[in-house]
Amino acid sequence: MLRREGRTLFKPVELEIELFCRGLRVDPSCDVDTDGRRIARTRAGLGSGLELVLPSPRKKIWVNVPVLEAFAAKSPFLLMKTARGYVLCDSRQGDHYPVEIPEEPVWYSWKTSSGVEMSRVGILQGTYLGIYVSNACLYWNLPASPACAFCTTGRNVGTAEESKKKVEDVIEVAKAAREESGSIFTHLNTGYHFEDRDDLELVHGLRQCEPFVKRLRAEVGGFIGVQAVPVPRRKFNEYDDLIAAGVDHLSFCYEFEDPAYFAKLCPGKEMTLGQNAFFEAMEYTSKKLGQGKVSGEIIAGLEPLEATKRGIDRIVDAGAFPTVCIFRPTIGSALESTPPPKPDEMREVFAYLWNAVLRASLPVGILPGIQVSLVVQPEEAADLVPPTFSSRLYETKLTALRALAKPYVAWKLRPKGGRVAAV
Ligand code: SF4
Repeated sequence: MLRREGRTLFKPVELEIELFCRGLRVDPSCDVDTDGRRIARTRAGLGSGLELVLPSPRKKIWVNVPVLEAFAAKSPFLLMKTARGYVLCDSRQGDHYPVEIPEEPVWYSWKTSSGVEMSRVGILQGTYLGIYVSNACLYWNLPASPACAFCTTGRNVGTAEESKKKVEDVIEVAKAAREESGSIFTHLNTGYHFEDRDDLELVHGLRQCEPFVKRLRAEVGGFIGVQAVPVPRRKFNEYDDLIAAGVDHLSFCYEFEDPAYFAKLCPGKEMTLGQNAFFEAMEYTSKKLGQGKVSGEIIAGLEPLEATKRGIDRIVDAGAFPTVCIFRPTIGSALESTPPPKPDEMREVFAYLWNAVLRASLPVGILPGIQVSLVVQPEEAADLVPPTFSSRLYETKLTALRALAKPYVAWKLRPKGGRVAAV
C-alpha cells in the first residue's frame, strides 16, 4: 500500500489484483463501447472483461477486468469518465485512480480475404494476439461432457469466434495486428483433440498448430507461442517438430496442484491425461527450448493456497515459469456461481510467486512489448515484497537481460520470407 495525504492507496499491482477479484462497475458517464475494446467472449473465456491499462512507475499494467459477471455488480470500484480522462473510484474510501482505456484496434472490423471479420479469428489480450486455432475442445463433446469447470470454450468457439481457423486468415490477422497494433507475440491454443492412434496423429491439437507456426514464422515473424494439452511420451518428437517449425514458447495448463481439485474440476484431463503428463511435457520441452520459454499455468482461488504455492514450486522445479490465473467465475461456465477469491489471499500467492522466480533466477519480463492482460505477470508481483539485496541484484540482472535482448528481438521480428518487421 502507498500512503498519500494520510490515506492508503493501492500500489498498481495491488489494484490489478483487486480488479481481478472484485471486478468493476461502469458509470453511465463512460463511453467504453466507443472509447475501448469490445468485450470478447473467446477462447476459454478468461479474457471476457474490459481491457484497462493502469499507470505504474515500472511499466504500464494491462488488466482485463470482469464487468458482466454477477459479482462485478457489487464491486466497490466504479469506472467514471471525467474531463481529465477515465478514473476508477474506490467507493470504500473515495480514492481515485487514473486509468487508460485502450482503443479497439481498427483491424477488428476488417475482413480477411475469405470474408471473415478479423476479430472472429483473433483478438488482442493486452498487447499480444490470442487465437484458438481448432474446433471446440473434445471434452465438451465426450459423453458426460468432462470439460474443465471454469472453461467456456465450448460456448464460444463457433459462436463468438470462427469454429475452425484457416491458416490464411490467421496470417492476415497476425500481419494486421503487427502493422496496426505493434503486436509481436502470436499465441495459438487448442483444447483436447487427441486421438491416440498413429493414423490419426495429424488431428490432435499439437499437430494442428504446426502449419500455423510454420506460416507465421515464414510470413509474419515475431514470437510464437503454443498452448496444447500434452502428448504422450512416445510422441514427444512432435515437440521437436514444433520447435523446428519455429515455435518460441510452449505453455501447459495443469490448473491445480491438489489432485482432488484437479480430478474434480478438470475431469477430462484427469480421465485422459493425468497431472504427471503435464510435468513430463514441461520438463522435456524446457530442456529443449531453454529457461523462460516454457510455462506451467495454474488457477489460484479455488484450491487451498498452500496447494497453489506447492504448484508454483513444482513448475519452477520442472524448469518452467509459473503463470498464475486468478479464478474468474465466467458466465456460462459450470463455476459461474462460485465466488471469486479474496484479494489479500491472491496478494499472498503472487508474493510467493515473485519469491519463487527470484530464488530460481528465472528470466521473466525480458521481452519488451508483450503485455498480458489476463494474469498478473511475475515481474509485476515484485512490488508485493519488500526489496532485499538479492531481489535488487536479480532486478538489475533482468534490466541487463532486457537491454541485451533488443538485437535478438529485432532479429526475431523479421519473417524468414522477408517484409513485416516494423513495430
Ligand atoms: S482442455 Fe479444459 S480448459 Fe482447455 S478448452 Fe478443453 S475444457 Fe476448456
